[in-house]
Amino acid sequence: MTAPLTTAQIREKYLQFFESKGHLRLPSHSTIAPDPTTLFTVAGMQPFKEQFMGAPAVFDGQASKRVTTAQKCLRVGDIENVGRTLRHCSLLEMLGNFSFGDYFKREALTWAWEFLTSPEWMGLDRSRLYATIYKDDEEAFGIWTQDIGLPEDHILRFDADENFWPADAPREGPNGPCGPCSEIFYDRGPEYGEDTWAEYADTRESARFLEIWNCVFPQYDRQDPLPDGTPVLKDLPFKNIDTGMGLERIATVVQDVYDFYSNDVFAPLISRIAELSGQAYEGPQNVSHRVIAEHVRSVSMVIADGSALSNTGRGYVIRKILRRASRHAYLLGLREPVLHTLVPLVVDAMGDAYPELRTEQGRVEAAIRSEEERFLKTLEGGIQRLGGMLEGVGRGGVLGGEDAFVLYDTYGFPVDLTKEIAEEYGVSVDEAGYAESLENAQNIARAGSKYGKSELFGGSQEALEGLSATEFVGYDHLEAEGQVLALVGAGERLSHLPAGSEATVVLSRTPFYGEGGGEVGDTGRLEWQGGSGTVRDTRKSPAGVFLHDVLVEEGQLTEGMSVRALVGPERQAVQRHHTATHLLHAALRAVLGSGVRQAGSLVAPDRLRFDFSHGAALTAEELAQVELLVSRWVSANFPVSWREMPIAEAKAAGATALFGEKYGETVRVVSVEGDVEYGGQPVSSKELCGGAHVRRTGDIGAFVLLSDENVAAGVRRIEALAGEAATRWVRERLSGAARVAALLNTSPEGLEGRVAGLQTQLKAGEKEAAGLRRQLAEAQMGGGGSAAQTRELGGFQVAALRLSGIEGNELRGAADKLLDQSGADLVVLASDKGLVVKASKAAVTRGAHAGQLVGKLAAAAGGKGGGRPDMAQAGITDPEAALAALATAF
Ligand code: ATP
Ligand code: MG
Repeated sequence: MTAPLTTAQIREKYLQFFESKGHLRLPSHSTIAPDPTTLFTVAGMQPFKEQFMGAPAVFDGQASKRVTTAQKCLRVGDIENVGRTLRHCSLLEMLGNFSFGDYFKREALTWAWEFLTSPEWMGLDRSRLYATIYKDDEEAFGIWTQDIGLPEDHILRFDADENFWPADAPREGPNGPCGPCSEIFYDRGPEYGEDTWAEYADTRESARFLEIWNCVFPQYDRQDPLPDGTPVLKDLPFKNIDTGMGLERIATVVQDVYDFYSNDVFAPLISRIAELSGQAYEGPQNVSHRVIAEHVRSVSMVIADGSALSNTGRGYVIRKILRRASRHAYLLGLREPVLHTLVPLVVDAMGDAYPELRTEQGRVEAAIRSEEERFLKTLEGGIQRLGGMLEGVGRGGVLGGEDAFVLYDTYGFPVDLTKEIAEEYGVSVDEAGYAESLENAQNIARAGSKYGKSELFGGSQEALEGLSATEFVGYDHLEAEGQVLALVGAGERLSHLPAGSEATVVLSRTPFYGEGGGEVGDTGRLEWQGGSGTVRDTRKSPAGVFLHDVLVEEGQLTEGMSVRALVGPERQAVQRHHTATHLLHAALRAVLGSGVRQAGSLVAPDRLRFDFSHGAALTAEELAQVELLVSRWVSANFPVSWREMPIAEAKAAGATALFGEKYGETVRVVSVEGDVEYGGQPVSSKELCGGAHVRRTGDIGAFVLLSDENVAAGVRRIEALAGEAATRWVRERLSGAARVAALLNTSPEGLEGRVAGLQTQLKAGEKEAAGLRRQLAEAQMGGGGSAAQTRELGGFQVAALRLSGIEGNELRGAADKLLDQSGADLVVLASDKGLVVKASKAAVTRGAHAGQLVGKLAAAAGGKGGGRPDMAQAGITDPEAALAALATAF
């Protein structure tokens, strides 16, 4: 039996298969979503939405209507499934082939079938494959039954909730490309369940029938429905193909293992966790091992892609995933940070396919470690809190389910841990009540995670109905008094929030900026008579209602109360980065030309990111010019002003508007009151913007450009730092250079010269070593090759010699010499580092074949090799065995 394919081999085979069908292989996009419809990339098609809608299919200068990728995806909606179902990961690799108005259903389905069943590719048993189709897709039915020969009873028809992508798109959106789909299932056999395929029509959940591949036929552009709710599906300019196969799932099937936790990527992680905790892994019942392995893999990837752990949006999701893993480590009895020590295993398994894991490994480990440390402290806090609750309940009592849930939600206490500690106190836990609270919370998570909707949105639309737009005073004030207009949790209006609960709070007025225009939402505190809480994030509903994500820490927050809202210190850093973004934008247009257009931006407390259209990488000189221009503005310390005005007036004043953005009649214009000079021309900064800014450019402090990279065809991304973040970064770099210089016994200024010198020395050393090896070979061969033994074998004169310490070029050179000097037909040189065989021209005409001979000798010597008839070589470990095999090799 041959060993099953590894995950890496399956990935590679998939991409090769579709290359052989004329597809262009493109690298994976980041896990950070390419567009703002989701926080993370959730499917392979996401980077290609524009192409489905008719944009030219040109990628980094290469035109191709057929593309194949392995796309890393993060599905927040599946996090709670991890560890519970056999088939869900939070990070998954989606293997996809895409057609932009080129081939359609027939090719997509027959190729999928060929890849799955052909012995050359996956070689799966045809009789175990099943398919679903959209209810009235007769074309797909015909292809499956006629072209492919799938029996009719292997096919089920479903409505748009199953066989449309995105699910239910016609009625529920999102707007944009969508279409019917056909899913392929694999029957894992009765060991996994007694259910039948016909029953799957009703159950829709099975451990036996595993969905492996979804072939989507995007041919519609979904639009807003008519007022009576009738769906509107406009035809796209052409018909497309978008398929996605989960690599983890196909690997499970091909490797024939119980679930993906036993495949070649996860097994090393699982066994390391067992080793660290001293708790053996015996199977699916060991949920903690599974959750830790899976979550460390996702978190490593997302951090490597540049997401920071934070209390807002994306960073908050990652923090939650990591804390879930930490909690399970705690459950396994681990009391020290250990998750970060698993990162190298993730890098081993996936670093070849995703090199960013390698380059960012240090940063990933450090980020995970510091979060673990912090979280272990929180856990200790939770234990104290629980202690208080238990005292209140008293020995023999029952701890309420709501309380157990608060511990879970706020401190990350799994209910098992709560139970364990409670039992020691002689208190039991209302588990049914806990399950109910959890279910409620999960319903919100699910509702919020549907493709196309924001993945973290505390309040549901209905709960916000009737609230008018919040008065925002945060451009000029960082503190304000407001009244609590609404409290929303679990999608419902609440009258009060007890300590320990987390919910969305709406105030009559607020200084908190709601995430938007690239700027992150504010964090900070709320204080009121008898209580306080943390604001972890702020968002804004489309109707202008500001939503504060609040954790109540002390006292109770009640509707109608007056509260003092205090924006946290991060805002200062955000403002620096925001004004710096405007200056960067203006500087780029001055240096690179007015073709530069903003394509996206992120303004956060720790950095800024700016995407813009530009065809080429920036030269070092251009980067330096841009940085210098921004610094000139900073040192000029000009005032920054903002004012609302009619859009016409703003345009007349030359304010930069964002391409494709919709603006109302009145706009806010942010201007820097002073120009800097570039190439003899004045450069000014005036932009339509709703964000928060510093008062004077000097407040920015320091500014440094970090990187310029390509993110999509014709789109570049710059990251930069302002203020303290910049100063700290520069100091780290300088210290790094100083450390390297010290290693090399020089100063940072002397580094270039020193490294060039070392390179020259190294080359000279290599040359000298080669010369010495050549002499060594000659000495070992004796004068005129006299040390060699010549025998007649198979009608040829064969000169053979054992050498030591000779390899590569010198070994081949020695073989040439020996062939010359000995007059033999064939020479065989075996060294402890390799094996070389050469045959004379005359011998080759008489049928000698060095390549075949090497193959036989190497096989006897624990190696592998081959080559041409006149020259061949092999890597071996046992030269004696190779020479001994000569006698029988002819
Ligand atoms: P399921 O119903 O099993 O959750 P899905 O309908 O959400 O799957 P799609 O959105 O169609 O799946 O994604 C395409 C493919 O990606 C699936 O056929 C499957 O192979 C894989 N996939 C989807 N979600 C996951 C996940 N959470 N973990 C691993 N693979 C997944
Ligand atoms: Mg799913």
